[in-house]
Amino acid sequence: MLAGKTALITGSTSGIGLGIARAMAGAGANVMLNGFGNAAEIERERAGIVSEFKVKALYSPADMTKPAEIAAMVKTCEAQLGSADIVVNNAGVQHVAPIEEFPIDKWDAILAINLNSAFHTIRAAVPGMKARKWGRIINTASAHSLVASPFKAAYVTAKHGLLGLSKTVALELATFGVTCNCISPGYVWTPLVERQIPDQMKTRNMTEEQVKRDVLLAAQPTKQFVTVDQVSSLALYLASDAAANITGTNISIDGGWTAQ
Ligand code: NAD
Repeated sequence: MLAGKTALITGSTSGIGLGIARAMAGAGANVMLNGFGNAAEIERERAGIVSEFKVKALYSPADMTKPAEIAAMVKTCEAQLGSADIVVNNAGVQHVAPIEEFPIDKWDAILAINLNSAFHTIRAAVPGMKARKWGRIINTASAHSLVASPFKAAYVTAKHGLLGLSKTVALELATFGVTCNCISPGYVWTPLVERQIPDQMKTRNMTEEQVKRDVLLAAQPTKQFVTVDQVSSLALYLASDAAANITGTNISIDGGWTAQ
């Protein structure tokens, strides 16, 4: 389905991004991986994608807080893999704290990684997409692009902003064969969610089981975590030609959370 295309996925060394990268590679796309982590593990994932799916896979260590590194990553993708046809803005971090104690450096980092980095990748990749008259921009937003939760000021702000950016880009590129959409998961069981549990336990004075049941899954009517495979399947669909007329939208995959 995606043979001959290249997908660049930010934050794809872990969790949802890695799942999306593997799904795109499984559909025949060459992939550019990005994110932090253990160098040997990242190389194992990269080499595994090459051997399992018979596609090209590169890794960029670009830091999503650094605009110059983001632009260089897109250039490298185009130079070494031929194009950046599908850009998945997925890198994201979280910090949970009451607004009056919210650390300023955490606010800045969350806005930079979860929102500004998408602007920088899109800005760098759009000229190539416009020239080829084909492109897919998929932004991993969140149920928090539509609703808020306490103690997540920076994350909720960034995800709401990402939706606004997506709508604007969709309108600008509508006649160029380029779509831009958000995927908005509820709670997906990934390292990002796992890492929130100690903070939530501390902030809310709860046990781990209480945080899972009464905080994380409290808002999710299905009472199930969304899976990485379910999110990856949706990203793959948005990258397909069948989704050519889906643009400027926000697709929830949240077990009914935002229906309430
Ligand atoms: P994760 O922690 O497993 O993965 C995050 C990825 O971002 C990792 O590859 C990490 O290395 C990378 N990253 C972090 N800081 C970076 C930086 N400065 N530069 C480059 N890469 C950086 O998290 P996840 O749960 O897979 O989250 C992925 C995306 O999905 C995020 O945008 C997150 O907000 C969103 N999301 C997650 C959930 C969930 O429940 N897990 C729900 C809704 C939305």
